[in-house]
Amino acid sequence: MIKKSGNTVKVILLLLTILPVMSCSLPGKKQNVGSLITTAYVSDSGISKDNTGSNSSNTDSTAGKSIKANDGKTAAGPVTREKFRIAVVVVDAGHGGKDLGTYYEDIYEKNINLSIAQRLGSLLENEGVKVIYTRETDIFVSLLKRAKIANEADADLFVSVHNNKMPGNTGYRGSETLYAKPDNPSRDNMSSKKLAKNIQKELIRTLKLRDNGIIYDPELAVLHHPNMPSVIAEIGYISNKSDREKLSTREFRQKAAQALSQGIIATLKEMGAIKNEKGKWGLPGK
Ligand SMILES: [Zn+2]
Repeated sequence: MIKKSGNTVKVILLLLTILPVMSCSLPGKKQNVGSLITTAYVSDSGISKDNTGSNSSNTDSTAGKSIKANDGKTAAGPVTREKFRIAVVVVDAGHGGKDLGTYYEDIYEKNINLSIAQRLGSLLENEGVKVIYTRETDIFVSLLKRAKIANEADADLFVSVHNNKMPGNTGYRGSETLYAKPDNPSRDNMSSKKLAKNIQKELIRTLKLRDNGIIYDPELAVLHHPNMPSVIAEIGYISNKSDREKLSTREFRQKAAQALSQGIIATLKEMGAIKNEKGKWGLPGK
């Protein structure tokens, strides 16, 4: 077998070309790719070159890790150097399982909440936001467990989807957004109150139900324990005929999810989020 130095150069160039792509899509494989280049260098040229110390200290745009070419220079390619963490939003479908929420005949709040929450999650994922669900099926999840899921995920925002009931007043209707901690927890200049304002604005603009505004309620247990800005969006009143008929259609539930998604994206932008070259919404590193 005859070694051709030209081929060696081609192999190395090829590997360096694919390196940035692999570093984004396969973060766990970075070290292997680096080793592969070193191996190719040694086996084809016969020159032993220790390059392993140089690929340990810069930033990958999605994984918060970094990569350098083996010659110590920064690898060419679409890798943002800025520290960046993918925005994480908890989508909490209120009630579930034995906890029906409110209901009218066979229309259960828990099912409407889940339908809107799943649609919201899909929209956010398509937008490039990482979504954590507290439930994706008709199961009971305690309020404390919901907060625990959000805190363990170190989420940036917590949005709980509900629908409402006004005992003794079937005429009462409309959308409202609730928060329990006006200023804290605060993250990246965002508070629960500001998040509530953004969500409420989009709900009214998109759904055009009656505007009941944002409501401060310190008694809301589910909003007490998450460590990030947290709200409950009460889309409409199941006890009201007009709201209930709208909530019973898929089209309206999709529109509700779109409104929530727009409110969340607007909030992430206020927090300084930008879309990276992979189409993911990211926030400045901690
Ligand atoms: Zn509810």
